[in-house]
Amino acid sequence: MSNATLKIDLSAIAANWRALDGQSDVETAAVVKADAYGLGVAPVAKTLAGAGARHFFVALAEEGMELRRALGPGPVISVFSGHMPGDAEMIRAGNLTPMINSLDQLLTHVEALPGHPFGIQLDSGMNRLGMEPNEWAALRDIALAQQPTLVMSHLACADEPQHPMNEMQLKVFEEMTQGIDAPRSLAATGGLLLGRKYHFDLTRPGVGLYGGLPFIDAVPVVTLDVPVIQTRDVAPGESVGYGNDWQAERLTRVATVAAGYADGLMRAMAPKARFTHEGRPVPVVGRVSMDLITVDISSLPETPTSLQLLGQHQSIDTLAGFAGTIGYEVLTALGARYDRQYQS
Ligand SMILES: *Cc1c(COP(=O)(O)O)cnc(C)c1O
Repeated sequence: MSNATLKIDLSAIAANWRALDGQSDVETAAVVKADAYGLGVAPVAKTLAGAGARHFFVALAEEGMELRRALGPGPVISVFSGHMPGDAEMIRAGNLTPMINSLDQLLTHVEALPGHPFGIQLDSGMNRLGMEPNEWAALRDIALAQQPTLVMSHLACADEPQHPMNEMQLKVFEEMTQGIDAPRSLAATGGLLLGRKYHFDLTRPGVGLYGGLPFIDAVPVVTLDVPVIQTRDVAPGESVGYGNDWQAERLTRVATVAAGYADGLMRAMAPKARFTHEGRPVPVVGRVSMDLITVDISSLPETPTSLQLLGQHQSIDTLAGFAGTIGYEVLTALGARYDRQYQS
């Protein structure tokens, strides 16, 4: 067996949810879109429900259906993309709550499923999803008469606490929701960490649950160990991998490990990336192939049977930094070939 092992620590996910829940006095939901950020929506959501989460968010109605099958009838499942054409039957059968983004969606929803719960998504400045202030001003009374279960918006720069955009969006959201009875929500992980003013009635953390920044105190969740298939000595002047990109300057012991860009380990990370062995860093040499990566293990006293890419010594955000991306992308890119092992 040569596929790499991706260990997912469910107790760490539960601990991260509890820690974030402890940072506010309001309800803490859980965002499990994109298959719980690539970690597996059924085991992750069941763990979060066990920890106390009662409200879950997904991006698409299809994801909501899968989540409903995993969780059963109790928890609220809200859908960020709202009510899209063709969604009515899923929203009804899965008892999903679409976060309505526009007049069009509101009409679609009340026509297809009169009386079915919905929320409202407002655009407080990010210009991505939700009703803009003028659209909302025109629709507000009609929409509120239908008693939305939640009114929410999303922050663009919450991972930068000093960014003036945070206060600006807070002000816009407060103005747009002044005097309404429906519960309100503005904060994802970053907003939750900005403090009380941003909490309103419900927070919606995602990445922090999975061990990612900006939740610096998160417990690490994923460990990725990649088996060594073969090792060899590369003489000075010889090269390694596609394009002869890397050339040995001295006698180098090279290990070839069984994962590559088809497993979500991006080619862009190669020049800076390192694996670790019992905490010692060992650099990647040459290009990342589809199924293989080559690593200089000359500094190790013995030949390892596997090398670690994610774990105690290297976080998802460290790995993201090698590739010039973010922990979110590293997590959601993790491929389908790993042997996923859940620890509780
Ligand atoms: C993804 C998402 C979240 C969760 O964000 P994190 O930064 O992962 O905590 C919350 N709300 C909305 C609208 C989102 O799209």
